[in-house]
Parts: sequence; C-alpha cells; structure tokens
Amino acid sequence: VRIGLDIGGTNTDAVALARDGRELARVRRPSGFGADEVIASAEAAVRESVAQAGARLADVTSIGVGIPGVIDQLSGRVQHAVNLGVVDLHLAERLSRRLTVPVFVENDVKAASLGAWHLLHLTGSAALLNFGTGLAAGVVVEGRLWRGARGTAGEIGHIPVDPTGVVCSCGQAGCLETLASGSAIARMWPTDAALPAVDLFDRADAGDGEAGRVRATFVDGVAQAVRLLALSVDVETVVIGGGLSGLGDRLHGPVLEVFARWAQASPFLASLDLPARTRMLPAGAPVAAVGAALLGSVPEFA
Ligand SMILES: [Zn+2]
Repeated sequence: VRIGLDIGGTNTDAVALARDGRELARVRRPSGFGADEVIASAEAAVRESVAQAGARLADVTSIGVGIPGVIDQLSGRVQHAVNLGVVDLHLAERLSRRLTVPVFVENDVKAASLGAWHLLHLTGSAALLNFGTGLAAGVVVEGRLWRGARGTAGEIGHIPVDPTGVVCSCGQAGCLETLASGSAIARMWPTDAALPAVDLFDRADAGDGEAGRVRATFVDGVAQAVRLLALSVDVETVVIGGGLSGLGDRLHGPVLEVFARWAQASPFLASLDLPARTRMLPAGAPVAAVGAALLGSVPEFA
C-alpha cells in the first residue's frame, strides 16, 4: 500500500493506493495550523486511511506528501508554507520517525501534475495549470516530474505579461498571476460572496458590464497561460486545474473562444491546435494526493 497526502491550507486529504494504482481509501481532515498540528494531522490521516483500506501500517511501503511552500525534496524539508503557519519543518524526518515508513515530500502543484498525468491516463508530456490563490504549473514528461535546474520549472505565474500592470507579490509588475488567479479575482472583483469567481461569472452572465470586463481579463489570462506552456515546453496536453477549475464549462467555453480569436489572427497559433490539447480537470479528482502517493515509485530525472 502507498499513502499519498495533500496538505492544503484548510484540509489534509489522504488516499491509499494498491500496488496496481487502485484507490483503496480516501480520507479528509482539517490540516491544523503550525508545524506541530500539521504533523499530528498528517499522522492521523495516514493511520485513518490505512485502517479504511483494511491494511496495517506494516503494509505501507511509502508515504508521499504534497504541500505548498518551498520544498527541498531530497531532505523532505518544507519552508515558508505561509497558509499552514509553517516557517521551517523537517517534514519527512518527523513523519517517518512517527510512522517508521519512508516519507517523500514534493510541492503540491508538482505532485498534482503527476497525479493528473496518471488519473487522466495521459501519455507523453503534460502540464497541470493550477489556478488557485496563485498560479503555477507542474510539468510531467513521460511520467516523470520535470523540476528544472533549480526547481522553478512551471512557475509561469511570475512571467510578467503587462509592464504597466499592478505590482505582484514577487516584486515584479504585471505578472500573469495578477490576471489569472484567485488573488487576481479578489483584487479585480471585491465581493463578500463565498465564491468570488462564481459571483463574478454570475454577474457577468447577468449583463453587469464591469463584471464582463473583469471576467474577460481573467479568461484571457487563463488562455495566455495555456499558450505559454505550449510555446515554451510544447507539452502535448495542458490540464486546467486548481480551485478555479471548479468553474468547469463556464471557464472552458470562454477560453476556447479566446483560442478561436487568436487562431483567426494567426495561422501559426492555429497550427498549435490549442483547443484539442487543453482539458479541464474533472471536479473532485484527488490529483495532489494520488500524485504524492506515486512519489518514490515513479522514475526520476537524474
Ligand atoms: Zn510575480
């Protein structure tokens, strides 16, 4: 049995996978805040998923963890996971000491891209675009994570696309993340609604002019992110994931309209065939936990 954990700012999701990749159990519990609570919650999630799978801890060959923040995947150390209140945590070391099972740690978006590659039965190369609070992508080539020379492969949210744009959290101006992310919507469409993106799309559908303009800016940014991946790494498939992919066809449709507009203006872009290469992540697919469960079992680039 392999266990995968997706430790998010609110919840920790766990899956137990059989050797052949079948899902045996799925568990969700609150992540807690601060290093000690995060570790305690992760341990509990592992024990619950093992029990639900009808297995024993001795049957577990590896535990993988996807977590936001700056990851040293060789040592399993996590730094600056701000939403979890974690400044510096030797996650692999502390969790493996409690459970006596090898623990692998990876950035959550990278883990999710590996999970999407497997759950969607993709072949060749693919990227998962994660539209959450921020914007980042994970790149998978032939089933292996492509991290790049310094681990920043796929950090396309911080490619500036508008020199006159607002200053990003990274210090640059007009990053793609300032147009196409949850934080971008929060800035461009201030609302008390529980789901600001849904509220934005509802208001735009109802004919609100300002909502329509903000939505167009956001959708254009999403399409730009797909185009960036196609032009820079030429992955065969781009999967639109992250919390905002919950918009489903309401997002997919307008993105396809942007592609069609570009294709009319540019035979070169038309030849890229972006519509056929872009997929929405199915709602509720536990990609980060599944990808985490695969850590340590899939081949790595040297
Ligand atoms: Zn930035």
